[in-house]
Amino acid sequence: MHASTLACGPFFNCGGALLSVVILLVFKPLAYYAFIQAFRYRVSRPIPMSVAQAVKLAGVRAGLGFVLVGAGAFCFYQWELSYGGDFWAYSWVYLYLERLLVWAGLGWYGAGLRGRRFVGWTLSGTALNAAFDFAIVVGVMDGITKPVLILGGIAALIAVLHKVGRRDSLKYRFSSDPSCTKCHYNLTGNLSGICPECGTPIATAAVP
Ligand SMILES: [Zn+2]
Repeated sequence: MHASTLACGPFFNCGGALLSVVILLVFKPLAYYAFIQAFRYRVSRPIPMSVAQAVKLAGVRAGLGFVLVGAGAFCFYQWELSYGGDFWAYSWVYLYLERLLVWAGLGWYGAGLRGRRFVGWTLSGTALNAAFDFAIVVGVMDGITKPVLILGGIAALIAVLHKVGRRDSLKYRFSSDPSCTKCHYNLTGNLSGICPECGTPIATAAVP
């Protein structure tokens, strides 16, 4: 313990820092996937979201976060070097604009969400990132106990989203074996909204 205290200095907790890395690399992508899958039956499309599509969206979310937050951190660091001053407030504004805009873009174009489901997705996705940010900050400063509690809270909230997102009124909007009304081609997993066999547009399930 003494060695790690020396290596990390005061106000820096090695156990919490290590957990933060695990959160970034493991828990966050898994939570993205679980969160996105909770919207499986909330899509404004004829077909529920597939596992492959949720994996893809989670990967895009994690990748964009890595690139945009990394580029932002680099720019703010350069800005501070060039002009001096403390730009941490701007960097937090940038960080949360990134969260809101990326979740909004993924929800609208990627998951096909509309209306209050789109708003719910964007706000709860941003809140998910906020919870992870908070867990990482308190982990680095204050050890692993609080981050573990926060991770438990995140898991519980996603579990509730899944439970509510699988209620019958949502599921019954989709037939178990979707097929084209014209040529009866099986449309399971179709995302384009157009039958690949005959080109007939697929009627979008009504959003109750
Ligand atoms: Zn067809």
